[in-house]
Amino acid sequence: MLGLMQDWPLLTHRVIDHAARHHGGREVLSRSVEGPLHRSSYAEVRHRALRLAQRLARDGVRLGDRVATMAWNTWRHLEAWYGITGIGAVYHTLNPRLFPEQIAWILNHAESRMMLADLTFVPLLEQLAPKLPHITRYVILTDAAHMPATSLPGAVDYESFLAEADGDFAWSEFDENTAAGLCYTSGTTGEPKGVLYSHRSNVLHAMACSLPDVFGLAAMDRVMPVVPLFHANGWSLPFSAPLSGAALVMPGPKLDGPSVHALLEEGRVTFTAAVPTVWLALLQHLEATGAALTTLKRVAIGGSACPPRLIEAFTQRGVRVVHAWGMTEMSPVGTVCSMKPETAGLSPQGQLELQAKQGCPPFTVDMRIVGDDGQEKPWDGSTFGNLQVRGPTVTRGYFKTGKSALTEDGWFETGDVATIDAHGYMHVTDRTKDVIKSGGEWISSIELENLAVGHPDVAEAAVVAARHPKWDERPLLILVPKQGRTIEKQSVLDHIAPHVAKWWLPDDVVVVEEIPHTATGKIQKTKLREQFAGYFGAG
Ligand code: ADP
Repeated sequence: MLGLMQDWPLLTHRVIDHAARHHGGREVLSRSVEGPLHRSSYAEVRHRALRLAQRLARDGVRLGDRVATMAWNTWRHLEAWYGITGIGAVYHTLNPRLFPEQIAWILNHAESRMMLADLTFVPLLEQLAPKLPHITRYVILTDAAHMPATSLPGAVDYESFLAEADGDFAWSEFDENTAAGLCYTSGTTGEPKGVLYSHRSNVLHAMACSLPDVFGLAAMDRVMPVVPLFHANGWSLPFSAPLSGAALVMPGPKLDGPSVHALLEEGRVTFTAAVPTVWLALLQHLEATGAALTTLKRVAIGGSACPPRLIEAFTQRGVRVVHAWGMTEMSPVGTVCSMKPETAGLSPQGQLELQAKQGCPPFTVDMRIVGDDGQEKPWDGSTFGNLQVRGPTVTRGYFKTGKSALTEDGWFETGDVATIDAHGYMHVTDRTKDVIKSGGEWISSIELENLAVGHPDVAEAAVVAARHPKWDERPLLILVPKQGRTIEKQSVLDHIAPHVAKWWLPDDVVVVEEIPHTATGKIQKTKLREQFAGYFGAG
């Protein structure tokens, strides 16, 4: 017997419909690529997204077509996502920080037929265009006054493009399992792989992310996604903020400490989200200038492990850190560290330590840790295993591979090694490929890095395995000093020593000016490993 409730497919344009109808005046404040702040609202975003949908349809964009975006977080990029998905086409976000050849490879693999790009990326695209046969039109996200002369095929400025449609148009209706978004993993190993989100997975993920123990979004919030929309679905915020009726504050191209701080204040932001490097830069700025955070209540930190030093610094400023773990393949949110009755009684220090864990999954995710034999490991907080996940917001295969990406019993292998404690809190020990295997035992590079960045002279730390004649691998600590500070190697090792087993202590320390980062702002371990593999003289 079927239930008798209405059949309402979970389509992303219902999110902007809801926001426009019930929170229509709510602000969408953006720092534009052209410079000045721009103010819009959900009602306006919806109307303009409808015009874009109408205009794209007139250009022949159809259900399932990929439309690429290479853009910062602004109101126009937000409109593009809704306009593209509103006719059943697929927004294909591109990370401009990838190597140009990788960008071309991804675009050709995706066969994206149109490109919506910010002014910033016109020179890059002009260089790539001859290698991109599928793209027949470039829409530059600006107005006629700022439109540069360009050789890009079919180039037009976004505002003129929109002006050719009046918005007297209806969203398309289709199955909720229809593809909505495409995002390639950065492919630090092998070729990039396309993760294809559906309308249903995006809406379910946005609902899950809004929950109190996840991001806890509400109509009273003002949400600033510093994490770019091109990084793993913008961590759901382009959907979860409008779904919750929260205002959006979009930082555009300026993601440095002083600019982020200025917009957090100007935009009266209550919730924000980004990778640790962004927050380390913000805190350096606050420390250097004595500036304060007057409206911020919560900050989501993820993408790589959140060092306790960050958690402490934000807590001291009255801002709660929401430590999140996830992957592009998981839409991306997998777990979030929030309090439970079982942990709420911890001392302040105990709570800080708990927050260094990646936490518990929302309803849409299930997780387990298994050994190399596939057997499940106990949840005791010390036994580690390969972390596997499943759920309606987790990928089951990559675009155009025609293959399942799951284990035989239907789990997705994350490539992370983790423990899970008796209360269900997951703690990432390492990425499988970053863990240091010393004399048959494993050393967590993340834990050593977290301790190292707690030293007052250290701005950034990376621990990599270097080959060792006796122990196979030994940890090498690579450090970047804070501006104007000098690092005493022994002082950093003394700072780490009381917190780890003796044999975990790095065998040496290298001080460098800069550590390489990936396109998503993470430390590029592969590059460091290559560079320092022979450091201890082993072949
Ligand atoms: P990329 O390969 O481009 O970094 P993802 O953004 O999908 O792609 O990265 C997912 C990986 O990032 C996870 O598998 C995990 O190793 C790491 N990660 C994400 N969040 C955290 C976190 N809070 N703590 C530790 N590692 C994290």
